[in-house]
Amino acid sequence: MILLYILIFFFGAAWASFINATLYRIENHFKYPDIFTKSSHCEKCGKSLNWKELFPVFGYIFLGGKCPTCNTHIPIYYPISEFLLGLTFVLAYIYSFPVQFVFLIIFLFVLSYFDNLYMAVSKKLVHIFLLSCILIFFLDINFTNIIAPLSISIIFLLVNLFKKSFGFGDILILFGLGMVSSYKQFLITFWIGILLALLYSLIMIVLKKKSIKNSKVPMIPFFAIAFVISIPYTEALWNMLLNFIGI
Ligand SMILES: [Zn+2]
Repeated sequence: MILLYILIFFFGAAWASFINATLYRIENHFKYPDIFTKSSHCEKCGKSLNWKELFPVFGYIFLGGKCPTCNTHIPIYYPISEFLLGLTFVLAYIYSFPVQFVFLIIFLFVLSYFDNLYMAVSKKLVHIFLLSCILIFFLDINFTNIIAPLSISIIFLLVNLFKKSFGFGDILILFGLGMVSSYKQFLITFWIGILLALLYSLIMIVLKKKSIKNSKVPMIPFFAIAFVISIPYTEALWNMLLNFIGI
């Protein structure tokens, strides 16, 4: 069993690595078929990486987080995102995630890449995400509750008018997730996402990577993680919450 989980983990991590590399190449205007066939190399000095150095998660550790030739730092986003998608695949296998959720998770993974890089995502991608959610909503109408996400989205729309802490894209993505989740799952996704983002901000401030004034964080990666957690653990977390506030 453990061996199977390890295999599934690296399958997910390899997918993450492939998606990240492909997005990077599209972003940097690689021509087809180079996007898929060119061997991976250091962005700065062009040194080709061998299979050991390209191995998901462990390649980063093996390289000590930098290029062996020119010492350029490899963004920590890569191994972390590989690790998380690997873990997600294992959870998806154990808890048999619905296939439409797996699709949305991979979509969120792509959006997270851009959000992490630019603190923004392209409108086109957000709209396709929202359309996918609407489609899933209509195909699978029985497990949805639109009221909670709708009201929260409206509140945030209003907040957004006065203060630019949330991007409009974040709200549309939350709205889409609300359409495909029960209200419990949506609230768990929302609050876990906010908590994780706060935790991340605090860690960044303590490490002095960000100041309190300039503490804007990309929200989509945290909502993506929260959404994954919410699929198997909504009931457990919901009961924990009710116990905690004493109901
Ligand atoms: Zn290099």
